[in-house]
Amino acid sequence: MTSSVRLCVLSDTHGRLTRDVLEFCQGADRILHAGDVGSDFILPELESIAPVACVSGNVDSPSLAPIRLQTVIADWRIMIQHIVWHRGGPSREFKMLIEQEATDLVIFGHSHQPLCQMIGKTVFFNPGSCGPRRFNLPSTIGEVILDTSGGWFRICDLVHLQKAPPIIEFRFKRLC
Ligand SMILES: [Zn+2]
Repeated sequence: MTSSVRLCVLSDTHGRLTRDVLEFCQGADRILHAGDVGSDFILPELESIAPVACVSGNVDSPSLAPIRLQTVIADWRIMIQHIVWHRGGPSREFKMLIEQEATDLVIFGHSHQPLCQMIGKTVFFNPGSCGPRRFNLPSTIGEVILDTSGGWFRICDLVHLQKAPPIIEFRFKRLC
């Protein structure tokens, strides 16, 4: 029996970090940022809450963080990259990449559209954007609870955090 790990997953902050986001991240074991950080103060602020894994997005300087990051948490092989999706699915290049590098969970951003979808044996998770509002998209953040037997994936609307259920919720049980 292993204990579970709580990941707070955010993306596309574009230079804005609200109190709601900081509160949501309290108690996280890890914080994952899928890029388009947009300002230098954001990562240190998140680091003061929990260890951060971050990639650079297209608005970030390449010196901020790597373009792609792979890590293993609770036996889940995780890949983080800002731009993954192209025309309704993972790009051809990205599909080829995860065929070579077995991956259980892909964390990405860029579209600002929250999404959680299982494709083959891989969960694709885009927490949406918790930065400045764009068009009529909600301001969202993701929470992922992982243990060796499965995962619980949620994406929440930050404005209605207390009153509404997650806008996306997905549970995945691993077959051993
Ligand atoms: Zn982007």
